Amino acid sequence: MKIFCLSLGCAKNKVDSECLAGELRRAGHELVESPEFAEIGIVNTCGFIRPAVEESIAAILDLEQLKKEGQLKKIGVVGCLVNRYGQDLTAEMSVVDFWAKSEDWASVLTSLESKTVAGRCRSNLPLSSTFTRYLKISEGCDNRCTYCAIPDIRGGLRSLSLDIILKEAQQLVQEGARELCVVGQDLTVYGTDLAGKADLITLLDALESSLPKDIWIRLLYLHPSRVTNKLLERVANGTQILPYLDIPIQHADAKILASMNRGIDPAQLLSIFKTARSIDSTFALRTTCMVGFPGEGNAEFKNLMRFTEEVCFDRLGAFSFFPEEGTNAMQLEGQVSEPVKRRRLKKLLALQEKISLERQQLFLGKTLDVLIEKVDTVYGFAEGRSFREAPEVDGLVEVHGCLNNIKEGDVVRVKVTDAMPHDMVGEVHRG
Ligand code: SF4
Repeated sequence: MKIFCLSLGCAKNKVDSECLAGELRRAGHELVESPEFAEIGIVNTCGFIRPAVEESIAAILDLEQLKKEGQLKKIGVVGCLVNRYGQDLTAEMSVVDFWAKSEDWASVLTSLESKTVAGRCRSNLPLSSTFTRYLKISEGCDNRCTYCAIPDIRGGLRSLSLDIILKEAQQLVQEGARELCVVGQDLTVYGTDLAGKADLITLLDALESSLPKDIWIRLLYLHPSRVTNKLLERVANGTQILPYLDIPIQHADAKILASMNRGIDPAQLLSIFKTARSIDSTFALRTTCMVGFPGEGNAEFKNLMRFTEEVCFDRLGAFSFFPEEGTNAMQLEGQVSEPVKRRRLKKLLALQEKISLERQQLFLGKTLDVLIEKVDTVYGFAEGRSFREAPEVDGLVEVHGCLNNIKEGDVVRVKVTDAMPHDMVGEVHRG
């Protein structure tokens, strides 16, 4: 069968979609890049927050329309939305032919009358990058932050074995990957649920000793409460681990951090970033913040602003608190009004825009290795990312100069000639 698979949500869900794609191909189906060419349409949904739920439902309705028009024979809905709302949805959406929870690929194959074969099998989706791939090392989470529905959607922590991860990393490199982005709900707890001594540092050692030396390894989602100096030094001393630290703080006020159940206080948070900068002043620090959490008054918000000013993150993503159904935070006193949330979000992002520009300008005149993702031969420029830009969430580096023989997937040395808050411009440096 010709199957179109739409992958929604986070990088971890993208890996799930690739595992589903691997199972479907192994069962003899063909993955096609758009529903117009397909007989079957599948959406791997996200159910994390309200906007993601709405996006997933809209995608299902789009496939329903194509089925009503006779384009698609069958449609399937899988993933987090099914984990969270499956029972209600199946009653309401009768046009959908099959449903499956996350990672339950066997039932998808059964619905397609295809044989299931034991063993993990992963395969890239059509139109997806081959140079940058996500390496998921665990699923689920035991942290129980009060605003987060993920532990209810994906269950408790389940680390993949070191063998499976190393084998998959090799496979992705053989398929052309130059950058592996290591993901999980929280990388710092890797292996704590496994027998034996495996932890994140053991995994990094194994990746660096088993992969070709030109492969970039990028770490995403490090919960601050378990970021140790030992881990910071391991990242700084890595030969392939990018000096890029994605450490979501969510907030920096003691009362709010406690109410979020983040398991860390502002002083400990500050010391992580101060230590990181003392170890390597060029560390690219990324974080995520939430404004408008219940109980956040002007004083608490000021603490977040002051902390942001003191640390000077390179990248900061921020969003407003949303009282997610089924979370403890939904019941908390002191819910903040939407206009106040909007005002604070605007203020925080405006502050960060200035800080990001200052951090970017530190690289003017310096050279950076850039992984080329696009070469535009018509307008004579290329685009890519350096260690400072993670895929999909950060900016880009625009590359000019002699682009002869430069192709997508190459890593090119670039001299930075201009810097903006999120993007940079540079010239190919043939030094
Ligand atoms: S660490 Fe907190 S925010 Fe992240 S997935 Fe776990 S519970 Fe959710």
